[in-house]
Amino acid sequence: MSEQEHAAQLFEELHGRAPAGVWAAPGRVNLIGEHTDYNEGFVLPLAIRQRCVVAAAPATGAQSSVTSAQRPGETIRFTAADLTPGAVEGWAAYVAGVLWALREAGHDVGDVDLVVDSTVPLGASLSSSAAIECAVASAAAGLAGIDLDATQIALLAQRAENDYVGMPCGVMDQMASMHGKPGQLVFIDTRTLDVRNVPFDLSGSGLALLVIDTRAPHALVDGEYAARRRDCEEAARQLGVTALRDISGDELDDALAKLSDDTLRKRARHVVTEDDRVLTVVDILGSGADPREIGPLLTASHASMRDDFEITVPHVDVAVDAALAAGAVGARMTGGGFGGSIIALVAAQGPAGAEAVADAVRQAYSERGWTSPAPFVTQAEQGATRLT
Ligand code: ADP
Ligand code: MG
Repeated sequence: MSEQEHAAQLFEELHGRAPAGVWAAPGRVNLIGEHTDYNEGFVLPLAIRQRCVVAAAPATGAQSSVTSAQRPGETIRFTAADLTPGAVEGWAAYVAGVLWALREAGHDVGDVDLVVDSTVPLGASLSSSAAIECAVASAAAGLAGIDLDATQIALLAQRAENDYVGMPCGVMDQMASMHGKPGQLVFIDTRTLDVRNVPFDLSGSGLALLVIDTRAPHALVDGEYAARRRDCEEAARQLGVTALRDISGDELDDALAKLSDDTLRKRARHVVTEDDRVLTVVDILGSGADPREIGPLLTASHASMRDDFEITVPHVDVAVDAALAAGAVGARMTGGGFGGSIIALVAAQGPAGAEAVADAVRQAYSERGWTSPAPFVTQAEQGATRLT
C-alpha cells in the first residue's frame, strides 16, 4: 500500500468518511551550506523520496483533530481560532503552529481533521519537521482555497517552527521541501529568497549520493542551535554588517582580526567559508564539470563544522572518516548537527561503491559497539504536491 493510501485509510477508520484530499511534502538532504541560512547566505539542499503525507478534510466537529501514524493511539484536539503559542505542545505543535501561522498571516483557515503519516525518520536531520509543516500548510491552504506559492508556504512553515514550536531555525528546510524538483538541487539565496534549480543527476557519472542516518543518541543540546545563531549575530554586530553573508572570502582575514574572541572568529570563519563553498559547488555543477570535483568541498565543509562551528559529535565524525577511508569522493554531516545523518558522494558500484562504503561505516560502528546506522542511496525528488 502506498503512503497516500495508508494515510487515507487511517483517515477513514478514524473519521468514518473519506478525506477531502491528500497532500505530501518531502524531507531533504542538504548537499552543502550548513548554518548559513540564518546568516542570510547560500544553501544547496535537495528534496528526497521520504515524505510526510497528510490526509485532510474540514472538521465536522467543533475542533480540529490531528493524528499521526508515528504517534499511534494519540489524537490531539484544539480550536484553530483559539491557538496561541504554548497552547499545544509536543509533536502536535508542528501542526497547530502551521494553522496558527496561517491565521496570524490573515488567512481564514477553519478547523480541520488531519491524519499524518511520514516516511522521513524523525530527528535524523532529514527534516521530518519541515515535511510535516509543509504538508500540513499545503493541506490547510488547499482545503480553504487559499492560493499561496511555494515560498509563501515555506515562510509560514518556518514561522510555525520559530514562533510556535520555539525552534529558531532558518528557512532552508521548508524551502527545500516546497521547491524540490526531480534531478535538481534547490539553490537558495536566503537573503533574497531567490531559488534556482541546479542540475544534479549523478547517473551519467557513475556516482551516487549515499545518506547514512547515524541513529546517534541525541545529546542534550536543545540550546546549542540557538547559541550558534547568537554567536553569528554577535559577530555580525561587531563587524557592523547586517549578517555574516555580507563578509566575502577576501574580507575574511580583516574581519576575523576585528572580532573580540576566538569562538566568534571560528563561528564567522565557518559561515564565510561555507558560503564560498556553496557558490563553488554551484559553479562546478552548473558548468557540467565532473561532479567528483565537489568531493573535496563536501569534506572541507565537514572539517569546518567539526573544528570551527563545533556542531559534530563522535558518531558523525566516525561515519565521515570511515566513508572517506573506504573511498568516498567526499563526505560531510548534513543538517543542524549534534547527531543526525551524513552524506557521502560515492561510486555507484564497485570496491569503493555505495554498498562498500555503507559496509565500512557499519563496521566502524560495530567495532565501537554502537547501534547500527541506517544507510540509503538518494537522489533529488519532487517537492510538496497534492496527491489526490
Ligand atoms: P528533523 O526535522 O531533523 O527530523 P526535528 O527535531 O526538527 O528533527 O523534528 C522532529 C520532530 O518533528 C519530532 O520529534 C516530532 O515532534 C515532529 N514530527 C515530525 N514528523 C512527525 C510525524 N510524522 N508525526 C509526529 N510528529 C512528527
Ligand atoms: Mg527539523
